[in-house]
Amino acid sequence: MGLVLYNTLTRDKETFKPIKKNEVGLYTCGPTVYHYAHIGNLRSFIFEDVLKRVLLLNKFKVKHVMNITDVGHLTSDADQGEDKMLKGARREKKTVWEIAEFYTKAFQDDLKKLNIIAPNKWAKATDHIKEQISMIQTLEKKGFTYTAGGNVYFDTSKSKDYGKLTNLDFESQARVSKDKNKKNQHDFVLWFTKSKFDSQEMKWDSPFGVGYPGWHIECSAMASKYLGTQFDIHCGGIDHLPIHHTNEIAQSEAAYGKKWVNYWLHNEFLVIGKGERMAKSGDNFLTLSVLGDKGFDPLVYRYFCLGTSYRNPLMYSEEALVSSGNALRKLHDKLLEIKGTGNVSKKYLKMFINAVSDDLNTPKGLAVMWEVLGSTLKDEDKYATIIEFDSILGLGLKSLKKEKIPAEVVKLAKERLKARNEKNWAESDKLRNQINGLGWDIGDTKEGYELRKS
Ligand code: AMP
Ligand code: ZN
Repeated sequence: MGLVLYNTLTRDKETFKPIKKNEVGLYTCGPTVYHYAHIGNLRSFIFEDVLKRVLLLNKFKVKHVMNITDVGHLTSDADQGEDKMLKGARREKKTVWEIAEFYTKAFQDDLKKLNIIAPNKWAKATDHIKEQISMIQTLEKKGFTYTAGGNVYFDTSKSKDYGKLTNLDFESQARVSKDKNKKNQHDFVLWFTKSKFDSQEMKWDSPFGVGYPGWHIECSAMASKYLGTQFDIHCGGIDHLPIHHTNEIAQSEAAYGKKWVNYWLHNEFLVIGKGERMAKSGDNFLTLSVLGDKGFDPLVYRYFCLGTSYRNPLMYSEEALVSSGNALRKLHDKLLEIKGTGNVSKKYLKMFINAVSDDLNTPKGLAVMWEVLGSTLKDEDKYATIIEFDSILGLGLKSLKKEKIPAEVVKLAKERLKARNEKNWAESDKLRNQINGLGWDIGDTKEGYELRKS
């Protein structure tokens, strides 16, 4: 069947064909490092990780680049509002450089906890100022820019098919620019020299004056540096459609004079409450460590994300995470029970590959996995097959180990069972608390009790 992906550019599912025979260039828009990533952001990176793993499974070599935005992103994607990095620095009374370093590290730690394979290249915007300046100069030479109020702008009226990614009727949109320097409402800043912010610490010398780059130019300049001026796949969340990715396409195709990226993939939002998008600017955002405080392992969140197609909104609730946690625990228990050296079932592997190669249908992939567990395959073959699926699911199933229960905990559990049999509930509760205090949970079963690490 091959790999089929939904391409936002054509608004259709297409059979994936890379430019080079067996190699794929993949660029994923990374975080703006002024705060912790929230679990909505992380949904985006989990989807991209599944995409990358599916490409690898389909025998492609993947060259993956992810940027770190540490300059130029204002609170509105369209050049208005505050500088996000400055906002973070002020909040924490640190320099923007300290903020960038701290949250980049925090982000990379989150990715590790979620079993997300690191990109081949991390590209920091502030490490690529030269490349951004050179791209702006190319655009200038080709007549796509103008200077007004000290800033260099991209002139969208010169772009042949501005907005082709969304096919939106831009004129009827409410995004009216408040920036009087702009000739057309969708024009955007390539280089700021007249900073609105007196305290702007990040400034570089440039042919356009001392200043700093606009947000969109970093992705175009860095993607093209590492993946070439035409490459295969570019991803991000759907919020990037109308402005960031639209502007990336406009400036890149203006500079290079050809189609820039063949496949654009976008994930829908993680939503919360009455369906509001989880956003860093809102008061509704949760981080991976907050989930940890609530008792959810990062991989429970990964499992939760895999249960819904990346192209559908995903509603966060604690109840939903509890049921993902239960499902994952059941899977762990079952795998520990059937662990052995067996053979991968060709039939089920094919079903699984077909599912995930159909626009990353992970809900169907998970269904195939549960089907394997309920099948008539030999236990060790079930185990081998599911471990093979985990190259896509990324749930760390191979490294599962039976927890060794300390003798003290077993002793307390036995005493508790005795107390229960004698209907001494007060004693039983007291013993449960002692067991919890040693970091274990106890549940009642037909046979007696069950202990798990809490
Ligand atoms: P940012 O750090 O704001 O640049 O966002 C990092 C990634 O998260 C981008 O690809 C966004 O499109 C994506 N994103 C932002 N909010 C959400 C959300 N609520 N659900 C899913 N993805 C999101
Ligand atoms: Zn980007």
